[in-house]
Amino acid sequence: MMHVSWNNLIAKDARALTASEIRDLLKVAERPEVISFAGGVPDPKLFPLGELSEVYADLMADDVAGRGALQYSISEGMPALRQWIAADLAKEGAERTIDNILITNGAQQGLDMLARLLLEQGTKLVVEKPSYLGAMQAFSTRHPDYIGVTMDDEGVVLADLEAAFEAGARIAYLAPDFQNPTGLSYSLARRQAVLELAQRYGAVIIEDAAYCKLSYEGEALPSLLALDEAGRQDEDAGTVVQLGTFSKTLVPALRVGWVTAPRPLIEKLVLLKQASDLHVATINQAVALRAVEKTFPGHIDTVRDTYRTKRDAMLRALEDFMPDSVSFTRPKGGMFVWLTLPDGIDSRALLERALEEEKVAFVPGQAFFCDKSGENTCRLSFSAGDPARIREGIERLANLIRRVHNQ
Ligand code: PMP
Repeated sequence: MMHVSWNNLIAKDARALTASEIRDLLKVAERPEVISFAGGVPDPKLFPLGELSEVYADLMADDVAGRGALQYSISEGMPALRQWIAADLAKEGAERTIDNILITNGAQQGLDMLARLLLEQGTKLVVEKPSYLGAMQAFSTRHPDYIGVTMDDEGVVLADLEAAFEAGARIAYLAPDFQNPTGLSYSLARRQAVLELAQRYGAVIIEDAAYCKLSYEGEALPSLLALDEAGRQDEDAGTVVQLGTFSKTLVPALRVGWVTAPRPLIEKLVLLKQASDLHVATINQAVALRAVEKTFPGHIDTVRDTYRTKRDAMLRALEDFMPDSVSFTRPKGGMFVWLTLPDGIDSRALLERALEEEKVAFVPGQAFFCDKSGENTCRLSFSAGDPARIREGIERLANLIRRVHNQ
């Protein structure tokens, strides 16, 4: 009898998929005694259970809407939901029609579909250093040539970006608002300059706007999409393809996200969507629409207030407990703070000891770098815990870092 040789059968692209080595370690982080900054998921206490329960009940009590929500639907996504998103984008200065919007199974599916649409082996692709790991997982199935661009306090470094475009890159994946993993945002001037550069070289920017509504101070800055749209008449021209989601503002489990793009791109994406899963669950789209109509903007205000308090607790604790040799970002929104440890401290080894000795968890930063640099960096999420636990966890981590540093 012949045994199946999976290694030979699995296609080359799929063979490139490897599980992250820290995943096993982070399983330990789920134990109740561990204070985990590793997650990065929304605080479930913020999920509007009462409102959602009413939305589901109302929908199922409505003979037409209820049956419609249980039926197949079009691949583009529910027109009324796309209309709501178009109106919301318009408020932020980006005039798009519903034909410029495709509903996806979370922003993550948008990333996967854009990878399939735009990338092939060797395509030069600009990513921030560090960048969102889930995006790189989606992109890497296509084997692009990553060109990592460094970040400073104002965003991506322009000279790096220009050098990448000079080297022939025409696609850049950027997250200007409260980036995952650093929490950093681009300044207005940097947004404008990035866009001008992209326009000069005829490059496309994939703008990840997953966290754009989670802003905790100051005025929200216009997205690259909105800046690109300013003064443009034709919705089907454009430099920016933007990804959005209700995962961070409503609930992630509905898996409702979207891609906003010029129509020729949307038309291709719709075909990819048809081939992969036909459409996002009709009922999830219907529930998302009713829920945002019912609860926004009040709910977003609650979400912001809650995360602001958690962020403040984390930053205060970092200031109070961390040795001066550790630097950290001071995000104005989002869910993450980024630590840079003294040179020579490997954050993966630190995680092992943090779990063992202090029962505290974080994500080592290296995984977020396309060139696997950043050994001495860590991503900390403040979204899930309560402020007192956050403070306690930071104190424990700081104690460990002091011990490691003095050894
Ligand atoms: N982009 C970024 C930057 C994210 O952090 C996430 C979620 N971790 C996503 C996209 C995907 O979000 P979703 O698929 O839930 O919409």
